[in-house]
Amino acid sequence: MKRNRNGSAPLAAKRDALKARLVAAHEAALLRGRTRVNAALLRPDNSYSLPDYVERGYYLDKPFTCKDCGKQEVWTATQQKWWYETAKGSVWTTATRCRACRRRERGRRDEARRVHLAGLLRVKNN
Ligand SMILES: [Zn+2]
Repeated sequence: MKRNRNGSAPLAAKRDALKARLVAAHEAALLRGRTRVNAALLRPDNSYSLPDYVERGYYLDKPFTCKDCGKQEVWTATQQKWWYETAKGSVWTTATRCRACRRRERGRRDEARRVHLAGLLRVKNN
């Protein structure tokens, strides 16, 4: 093995840097694996074009601005995978509201539905 005249420190540093690069590449590959798109689980869609994540093959964290309060938030790759493959959200939908506004909107919708159903029941029973 070739020896550095100044001792082994530079070589060790190079080796550590290489090791760090390999670890980073390995972690990136693992992350891609976890967020890989399983197209078979997506909700069927009749359009001719494909969403970018389907063409790419994996989900990427996506920054967005909440349409209600203007807060910057990140729709993570893991959340996208859940939304498209487990919740069967339309493949063209993306996050538009931050967590807090989403919760508020859900509450508003549930209340509107409750009032609507109560109204229907009243009509039916009269
Ligand atoms: Zn918001």
